[in-house]
Amino acid sequence: MREAKFATKSIWAGEKDQLAFGATQVPVVHSVSFGYDDMDDWYEVAIGNKKGHIYGRNTNPTVEAFEEKIRILEGAEAATSFSTGMAAISNTLGTLLRPGDRIVSIKDTYGGTNKIFTEFLPQQNIDVMLCDTGDHEAIEQEIAKGCKVLYLESPTNPTVKITDIKRMAQAGKAVGATVVVDNTFATPVNQNPIELGVDLVIHSATKFLGGHADALGGAVCGSKELVEKVYHYREINGATLDPMAAYLLLRGMKTLHLRVEKQNKNAKEIAEYLNQFDMVEGVYYPGLESHPGHDIAKAQMKGFGGMLSFSVKGGVDTVRHLLPKLKYANRAANLGSVETIVGPARTTSHVECTPAERAAMGIPEGLIRYSAGIEDIEDLKHDLEQAFHALPENMVLQS
Ligand SMILES: *Cc1c(COP(=O)(O)O)cnc(C)c1O
Repeated sequence: MREAKFATKSIWAGEKDQLAFGATQVPVVHSVSFGYDDMDDWYEVAIGNKKGHIYGRNTNPTVEAFEEKIRILEGAEAATSFSTGMAAISNTLGTLLRPGDRIVSIKDTYGGTNKIFTEFLPQQNIDVMLCDTGDHEAIEQEIAKGCKVLYLESPTNPTVKITDIKRMAQAGKAVGATVVVDNTFATPVNQNPIELGVDLVIHSATKFLGGHADALGGAVCGSKELVEKVYHYREINGATLDPMAAYLLLRGMKTLHLRVEKQNKNAKEIAEYLNQFDMVEGVYYPGLESHPGHDIAKAQMKGFGGMLSFSVKGGVDTVRHLLPKLKYANRAANLGSVETIVGPARTTSHVECTPAERAAMGIPEGLIRYSAGIEDIEDLKHDLEQAFHALPENMVLQS
C-alpha cells in the first residue's frame, strides 16, 4: 500500500485500534485495571501471549494510541511513553547503563539531563564524559576510547547549537555504543534521527508534540528490542503516562505539522528581524547563515525549528525592562507551545549555574530564549519593536 505523507499520518496514525462505540476519537480510558471472566484468557494476556490490557501502570488504550502515533511519525519499529520527558531520559539511561560503564555526551544538553550527568550518574559509578558541543573531532576522540552510550541533543538549549548526528552515530556504532538523541527541539517534522542512524529517539512530549502547554509527557522510539527493555524498566519503576495527558498530547499531535511549519517560519523571520536592533548583541538561530552549525543543520534538518535566542546589551537590566513589555508572549519556563514564550536563560534553562559557569558555557547574562508561537508574524514583530522602543532612555544611550 502507498505510504501516507507526514501530515496525513499525524492526523490518522495510531488511533484506529483504540476506537470504541463507533466514536471517531480515541476514548480516555481512566480505568486502572482491566477485568477477565475467562481465567485462561486473563493468563494469556498476563504472560504476553495475547493482546490486551492488565493494569494501567503497564499499558492503557489511550496511552497506546499516543505511543503508536509518535512511533509512526518517527518512523520507528517501536515506541513507549512516560509521565514526563525527564522520565523518558532517566529511564532510558537506567535501562542502558550499569556501574562501571562510560557515557559520552555534550555540555549543552537540557538542564535536567545535565543534572543526571553531573549529579546522579557519578553516584552510581558511571563515568560521564561531556564534550564541547559542536566540536566533532573532540566528541569522536572520546567515543573512540569506548562508551556504552552516546547521548546527543541537536539543536540544543538555549543557544541552538548543532551536532552532526549522522557522523556521530557512525562513530558511536563503530565502538558498539547505543546512540540516543533527544529530538524535542526539532520534532519529527524537522528531523528524523532514526534515518540518520540513531538507535533511540527521545521526546519531551510536553513541548512541541502536545503543543498547547497543558500536558506533561515523554516518549522513546527505536528498535523493538531496545524499546522493550526501556518499557520493562518503566513498567516496573512506574513513570507511566497518565491517560488524560495521553489524550491531550494525541490531540495536539494532529496539528503538529501545521504548528511546526508556522513556528519554523516565525522563528526565522524573528531571528532576521532582531538583527536590526542596536540593543541586540547576538542572534542564535540555525536557520541564519551566520550560525556556525547552519550547513550541518541544512543537511540534516527539513526545517530549522521554532527555537531561537538572542542576547541584549546591558545584560540583566535590559532583560528586566524588555520582557515585561511584550504583549504576545508568556514569560515562562516551557517552550514549543502555540503561544510565543520568552525567558532569560539565567532563569530558565541554566538557572542552576553560577554566572561564571554560564559565561564559560557561552551563555551571556542577557540571553533571552524565544520560542516562536503561531501568532501572526506582523504582530510578533510589532510587539518586539514597541518593547525595544519603550526601554528607558538611559539604558539605550549606555549601549
Ligand atoms: C523540556 C525538555 C526536557 C524535559 O522534559 P519534561 O517533559 O519537562 O520532563 C528534555 N529535553 C529537552 C530538550 C527539553 O526541552
